[in-house]
Formats: sequence, structure tokens, C-alpha cells
Amino acid sequence: MARYNGPSCRLCRREGLKLFLKGERCVSKKCAMERRPYAPGMAGQRRARVKEYGQQLREKQKVRRIYGVLETQFRGYFKIAEKTRGVTGENLLRLLESRLDNVVYLLGFAPSRAMSRQLVLHNHFSVNGKDVNIPSYRLQKGDTVAVREKKKKAEYLLESVKSRGDNQIPDWLSLDRAAMSGHLADMPRRESIQTPIEEQLIVELYSK
Ligand code: SF4
Repeated sequence: MARYNGPSCRLCRREGLKLFLKGERCVSKKCAMERRPYAPGMAGQRRARVKEYGQQLREKQKVRRIYGVLETQFRGYFKIAEKTRGVTGENLLRLLESRLDNVVYLLGFAPSRAMSRQLVLHNHFSVNGKDVNIPSYRLQKGDTVAVREKKKKAEYLLESVKSRGDNQIPDWLSLDRAAMSGHLADMPRRESIQTPIEEQLIVELYSK
């Protein structure tokens, strides 16, 4: 399946939730969810009854859209989550949270996950001193993500880091603004994920 290139705000309206796909705009009055908080299309304002399967499907689509992951890749994550010890739904979220593009976003180097993905692809970061340009690169406890030396003075990175408050950075990450680097002090825990996600619905969907 191809990557979705349409309007991001449409995805939020479809899911009925702010997915924060556009950086600053998402916290401004221009956010489409503030002005038109109903599903797009002719029938968008009709209240449809959602059945069990529909709920599970919507939850899966929502999570895929938040992390910008394609269907095949998402199924791959689910398979790994199933095989890993522990609760499958939580394992799945942990895998998604520890992607390099997500960590770059959480550390504040980019205003959105889409932007963070672009920066990673354009070789802005290193992991433990080695250049990595794979957005899905899976980070481990103890890893250090740093802006590459020649990008450290880039205005857009400095601005982005400056605008991210310390209280917005999850407790399993630590940010060193002076060094433009972040450290994974721990692996992400379920309670650190603030977005309302019902991962059990995804587990039920894929277990059919
Ligand atoms: Fe979603 Fe951001 Fe668009 Fe608001 S501005 S609808 S949060 S992508």
C-alpha cells in the first residue's frame, strides 16, 4: 500500500481525534479539528453506529496514522509484539514508540512525526556515534541519539528544540540541549504514552 499523501487534517477528522500531524498548527486555532470536528465528506456530520469490527479497524488506523506506518509494516510490528514476552498490545506500542523518527519527534528536534521522518531520511542524526537515516530504526535502552555535527547549527532544529518544554519530554528520555542529543534512559512504558489508544482493540482485530 502506498504512503498517504493527502491532507493530514482529513485523517484527524476521520478518526475524530487530534493526531498532531502538523506541528505548530495543531495547537493553534487553525486546527481543522477545532473548526470542523466531524468526519470529512457528505455524510461526515451524520452519526453512524459503529460496530465492534469498525471500532477495532478505526483504532488500528488511528495508531498507524499517528506513527506514520504502512499496513504491512504495522502487521510486522504486531507479529514481533505477539512473539515477545509480555502483553501484546503494550509490546506493539513499545515497538512503535522506540522508532528513531518517533524518538526524534519526542525529543523536540522536529515539530511533527512527519517532519522528523524527513529529517532522519536526510541524514540529520546519529545513534551511538554512527549515522543512521532509517526512520524505523529500533532504538534500545541506553542508546544516544544526536544531531550530526554539521547540522547542529541548523536554525530549524534549534528553534524546534527550544519550543519543546521539558515537561513535554517523556520520562524514559533525557535531552541535552547544549549537546543537541538525547538518551534513552529506559524503554517506553505504557503509562508514558499520553495519546488515548486502546491497543486491546488492535489485538482483537488481528486475532480474528
Ligand atoms: Fe490534526 Fe494537526 Fe490538522 Fe489539527 S492541525 S486536524 S491536530 S493535523
